Amino acid sequence: MDLKQYVTIVQDWPKPGIVFKDITTLMDNGAAYKYATDQIVEYARDKNIDLVVGPEARGFIIGCPVAYSLEVGFAPVRKEGKLPRETIKVEYGLEYGKDVLTIHKDAIKPGQRVLITDDLLATGGTIEATIKLVEQLGGIVAGIAFLIELTDLDGKDKLDGYDVLTLMSF
Ligand code: IMP
Repeated sequence: MDLKQYVTIVQDWPKPGIVFKDITTLMDNGAAYKYATDQIVEYARDKNIDLVVGPEARGFIIGCPVAYSLEVGFAPVRKEGKLPRETIKVEYGLEYGKDVLTIHKDAIKPGQRVLITDDLLATGGTIEATIKLVEQLGGIVAGIAFLIELTDLDGKDKLDGYDVLTLMSF
C-alpha cells in the first residue's frame, strides 16, 4: 500500500512557511491506519519489546495500537505538569526557546526493552528527549518507529546507533 496518498500536505500551517504533514487523513482510513500499524508491529515483532513509549500526542496514536498488537503496555511521555505522579524530566531545544518532556518515574523498569513511536521525525529534538527519558530510567531503546521522516532536516543524525524504522520520507 502506498501510504503517502493518505497524508495531506497543508501549506503554511501552523505558521507561514511551514508545510505540515497531516496524518489525520491516514488515521481516519481504517485500512491505511491498520496497514501502517501492522508495518511497525512486524518491525518490532522479533525485538522482544516489553513496553512501547511515545511522546504526546501523536506518538500515542501510533504507539497504542502497536502496543495492543504486541500485547505489551504503553507509557506516555508528556509535557510538564500533565502526569499526576512522580516524574523525571528532560529539557530540549526548540527553534525558539525550549520545552520539557516528562515520564512517570516508575513507568519503565531497568533492563526493559522499549519501542519508541512517534508520527514524524523532523529535527529529532522530541525523539532525542524521549530516548533520554527512557535511558535515564534504565530502559533499553530496542527500536524507534515513525510514520514519516522529513529528510532535509537531518533528524536521523541524532539517532546514530539506534535501530530506526520510517514508513515514509518527504
Ligand atoms: P522534531 O522534534 O523537530 O523532530 O519534531 C517532531 C515533532 O513535531 C513530532 O512529535 C511531530 O508530531 C511534530 N511535527 C513536526 N512537524 C510536523 C508535521 O509536519 N506534521 C505532523 N507533526 C509534526
